Amino acid sequence: MAGMRKQPQRTCVGCGECKEKRELIRIVRTPEGVFTVDFTGKANGRGAYLCRNGGCLEAAMKNHGLERSFHQAISPEDMEKLRKELEAG
Ligand SMILES: [Zn+2]
Repeated sequence: MAGMRKQPQRTCVGCGECKEKRELIRIVRTPEGVFTVDFTGKANGRGAYLCRNGGCLEAAMKNHGLERSFHQAISPEDMEKLRKELEAG
């Protein structure tokens, strides 16, 4: 039965909890270097995961979890863009 299969798990870069992938939202850096919220989970590029609540984006800003995942600094403008995309989604 398909439902018995173990779901893939990912770690939220905000709170550090390991959860099923479907409970998380994917942040992706596209090959063009643009940070965006990947609502399909299928966009090309390097990804990091956050819980589907605004709090973990805030936490990831404070603990630099996203920067660690992407190995680069993320500008406040990019963070604000991600926050808006998350709120809109
Ligand atoms: Zn989280």
